[in-house]
Amino acid sequence: MKDITKKYSNGEVTVVWRPSLCQHSTICWKEATGLPDVFNPMVKPWINPQAASTGQIIGQVKKCPSGALSFFMDQEKMDLGD
Ligand code: SF4
Repeated sequence: MKDITKKYSNGEVTVVWRPSLCQHSTICWKEATGLPDVFNPMVKPWINPQAASTGQIIGQVKKCPSGALSFFMDQEKMDLGD
């Protein structure tokens, strides 16, 4: 199976999405449980990390039941390169 990894950054946090793991639970994009301004499967790219605060995005990513969504802090990534 192709294991695609997509990344979406707002300059502070990078959201990582692995579509092969997504169970289409709808948790991330439904109004009641998600952040529909950030996660919107009707548009491309479907993740817009500019549309909420870094803290909100991290909180939402942690609710993903499948592990399809994860994140890293952009600063940490930069530090790794030093
Ligand atoms: S919360 Fe996770 S498993 Fe559910 S639709 Fe979003 S990415 Fe897919």
